[in-house]
Amino acid sequence: MNTTVAFIGLGAMGFPMAARLAAAGHALRVFDIVPATAARFAAERPACACTSPAHALDGADIAITMLPSSSEVESTLLSGEASAALRSGTTIIDMSSSEPMRTRALAQALAARGVTLVDAPVSGGVNKARDGSLAIMFGGTEEQLARCTPLLSAMGTKIFRTGEVGSGHAMKALNNFVSAAGLVAAVEALHVGEKFGLDPHVMTSILNASTGRNNTTENKVEQFMLSGKFDSGFGLALMEKDVGIAVKLAEALGVAVPQGKSCHELWAQATRSTKGADHTEMYRLL
Ligand code: NAD
Repeated sequence: MNTTVAFIGLGAMGFPMAARLAAAGHALRVFDIVPATAARFAAERPACACTSPAHALDGADIAITMLPSSSEVESTLLSGEASAALRSGTTIIDMSSSEPMRTRALAQALAARGVTLVDAPVSGGVNKARDGSLAIMFGGTEEQLARCTPLLSAMGTKIFRTGEVGSGHAMKALNNFVSAAGLVAAVEALHVGEKFGLDPHVMTSILNASTGRNNTTENKVEQFMLSGKFDSGFGLALMEKDVGIAVKLAEALGVAVPQGKSCHELWAQATRSTKGADHTEMYRLL
């Protein structure tokens, strides 16, 4: 049986992910802080465009949040009206890239009211959100995963259970630290090579045929950097947030991450000097 899903946060990722759920036949109640976005979503497919998080949660079996960070997730779920609309027995899947420790605390606070929170952040970007082939990192019990799988499998093809609630968010931040460090290394290498007289297109082909290849050299350098498009759909400030979460997690656990710290400082500087930039603009900024 298909489920009534409240979907909160229809941005670069949330919009196509919610569209996958609608296409799979789930009844959707969508909300975004920008009302025109929910209206546009509902104009193109059967869905209720809601006027508040409480309105979206009203009558939903499962709620999905796809918001920028833990702050928006907490304020959405704990604010007076929405909090009152959350019925005991509701499951919330936070698919945002949130902070693992805050996710655990939020899950505990909601559990006291009979509401289940699990985390299921994603990787793969806008293209994989559109075609439903995201990687999904699930933090929650086996039973909770079984309950969520019909929805998750409409959005992703690689679903991993990482452990208890919060563990998906820990894994996601660590993944993005590796991705962000790989991007910086690739961009720095390109700038040195160019200054020496190497052709960046030839460099990229060689990196991709060699041991230096990574997600940036394969999927970002030609596509979004050398092309001058800088429109991958993943914001620079969101990448800075994710590397910051990984470093904060390391500090909380007492693990030294010198490279993580210097990588985070680069992304933080870049975020301070831009507004609304795509993360591939690091190519111009470094
Ligand atoms: P986005 O900025 O494009 O979208 C966020 C959406 O949330 C916007 O539509 C915004 O209007 C809405 N919003 C903000 N505050 C709100 C609130 N309080 N209530 C309701 N709506 C609110 O971001 P995105 O790229 O879609 O990313 C969403 C999450 O997914 C982030 O945590 C990001 O780190 C993560 N993520 C992004 C990508 C990517 O490629 N873009 C990939 C994987 C994970």
